Amino acid sequence: MTYDLTVIGTGPGGYVCAIRAAQLGMKVAVVEKWPTFGGTCLNIGCIPSKALLHASELYEEAGHGFAAMGIKVMGPKLDLPAMMKFKDEGVDGNVKGVAFLFKKNKIDAFIGHGKITAPGKIEVKGADGKTQTVETKNIVIATGSDVARLKGIEIDEKRIVSSTGALALEKVPANLLVVGAGVIGLELGSVWRRLGAKVTVVEFLDRILPGMDLEVARQFQRMLQKQGMTFKLSSKVTAIDSSGKILKASVEPAAGGAAETIEADVALISIGRVPYTEGLGLAELGVTMERGRVVIDQHFATNVPGIYAIGDVIAGPMLAHKAEDEGIAVAEMLAGEAGHVNYDAIPNVIYTFPEVASVGKTEEELKQAGIAYSVGKFPFTANGRAKVNRTTDGFVKILSDAKTDRVLGVHIVGADAGTMISEATVAMEFGGAAEDIARTCHPHPTLSEAVKEAALAVAKRPIHM
Ligand SMILES: Cc1cc2nc3c(=O)[nH]c(=O)nc-3n(C[C@H](O)[C@H](O)[C@H](O)COP(=O)(O)OP(=O)(O)OC[C@H]3O[C@@H](n4cnc5c(N)ncnc54)[C@H](O)[C@@H]3O)c2cc1C
Repeated sequence: MTYDLTVIGTGPGGYVCAIRAAQLGMKVAVVEKWPTFGGTCLNIGCIPSKALLHASELYEEAGHGFAAMGIKVMGPKLDLPAMMKFKDEGVDGNVKGVAFLFKKNKIDAFIGHGKITAPGKIEVKGADGKTQTVETKNIVIATGSDVARLKGIEIDEKRIVSSTGALALEKVPANLLVVGAGVIGLELGSVWRRLGAKVTVVEFLDRILPGMDLEVARQFQRMLQKQGMTFKLSSKVTAIDSSGKILKASVEPAAGGAAETIEADVALISIGRVPYTEGLGLAELGVTMERGRVVIDQHFATNVPGIYAIGDVIAGPMLAHKAEDEGIAVAEMLAGEAGHVNYDAIPNVIYTFPEVASVGKTEEELKQAGIAYSVGKFPFTANGRAKVNRTTDGFVKILSDAKTDRVLGVHIVGADAGTMISEATVAMEFGGAAEDIARTCHPHPTLSEAVKEAALAVAKRPIHM
């Protein structure tokens, strides 16, 4: 049989694309080389990291935060294997959910490594070495990304780990060195600090969270320092000596100079991710690539007819929800509908405590583009719910067009920022103004009232400040 669509990779981009295409009446197959569906996100990314962030946050709170609320806990004790089991069960529930959805939508799954041998033909090689050929009218490449490596430093996933190893350490390291102050490094660094590790983060740039609003990043860094994390900015790890019992990392100033040694039990290499297209056969097919990414047009089409690409393997932020939206858009386009992704309104969340969330432009980007903007800011210290919950760290910042008041960017650092950013994203999707948010009734008492107050602050009329 010939499928209408075959998706290679079942991460959030691939599995969502397959389901949407099946909903639209296509006969759909997926190819997956891992034993479970769900890709990086469900197996070794978003889901397990959030499970550990959730559990470790409660562990820390039980140790320090409960007493102030009149809850006496006799020194919480860590049972790391049980916490890992909790994480694994969360992953299991999610990956099984995808398998159920494939069945429900009558999507056929081919398990093995997919290679495109010609437009419309995919050779799938199973773990047993046997191959089968899938015939299909269209192919969507959704093969995601892999860990970026540091030259000369070998990841063994035991002592020198990527995020994958950091999600499965067998004991809490006394000293954890985190290389790279991006989202993954700060999230997993937070997990292990809460569980007892002394965490040192080395970052090449002079700031954490590159790409995020600078004011937010600076304030967030101060919060993490208060929690006990140490930062070495403008510095680079050039080598890690793993010959002894303790790792010895050579750390140099980014601009060059004398190296110092940082000792650690575990080093987490979290310098980013790179698109993954190994063994797909793209070079032989002549698919255009740029710096490892598959190049696509506005319809997610590559230069080879019938072959499309979405998710981490193409340009844009490496985020699960971006991949999902692209999966839906390309399925709808293939069905003759008008799929669309608004790249100006893709939220980004760091699930630490407090959380950091943003959507749209940063102040730095607006300045660079020469766009005149207004700023409205509101601190959580002035929010009633935050006061009672004792989560007063952080603020909401809304950036709107100076002339039209249209919301251009929203940045939140504070408890539950990841949930609150959605209302800003909806406002931006609808082309809303700060005034629209300001005039929208928000429930009291909630942290989200700080979003409304920041919108009021754009027009210089916040009530509670
Ligand atoms: C630790 C960590 C935490 C993260 N947390 C978040 C978060 O909180 N929020 C968020 O939005 N994003 C998060 N991300 C990023 C997110 O996981 C990715 O953006 C997302 O998974 C990309 O989806 P994708 O569908 O493009 O590819 P992937 O999820 O990478 O899936 C690709 C799939 O393709 C399969 N595959 C590859 N090549 C072949 C082949 N030739 N044949 C068959 N199968 C193949 C792979 O086995 C894999 O299953 C996190 C990532 C990590 C590592």
